[in-house]
Amino acid sequence: MEQKIRGGTSLTDHALTAGEALLTHWQVKSDYRWDAGAALSRFLEGLKHGQILGIHCPQCRRTLVPPRVFCERCFRPLEQWVPLYDTGKLITYSVSYVNWDATRRRTPEIPAVIELDGASPGIGILHLLGEAGGSLSEITARLGAGTPVQAVWKPAAEREGAITDIRYFRPVGG
Ligand SMILES: [Zn+2]
Repeated sequence: MEQKIRGGTSLTDHALTAGEALLTHWQVKSDYRWDAGAALSRFLEGLKHGQILGIHCPQCRRTLVPPRVFCERCFRPLEQWVPLYDTGKLITYSVSYVNWDATRRRTPEIPAVIELDGASPGIGILHLLGEAGGSLSEITARLGAGTPVQAVWKPAAEREGAITDIRYFRPVGG
């Protein structure tokens, strides 16, 4: 079956540079705001005041962080806010030499899952580790599952109600 190709002339570099084709430049302005929702908003407000808030489910008796408006296990609304400690232990971590934009890092970044004291076992928040050594061998010698860590906060005047109000968690003791 024969297929007919219709229409069109391909644009050439000449057509574009000589002004034979209409060109327009458009700068996308995409400012936006994101609604954190009731539970996360209160959590972020707590961080601004140097406090990490969890929420307790009276049915399954778990204390969850980050807090949420309902228990995903029991499907019941949650209202019991609980202040947590800014200490905890390492559940797992990764040593990354790549930035979010895929460029290489000279010094590694260490994203980690941290179980905060006061939260239920296995309930972790994702954050960064710092003061954990410069080389991979130093880091792996210093860190492991169960390593005690503590939050390093921004100075109070610089906090803005964001998870980055905690700069990172650092290993303590050992
Ligand atoms: Zn529950």
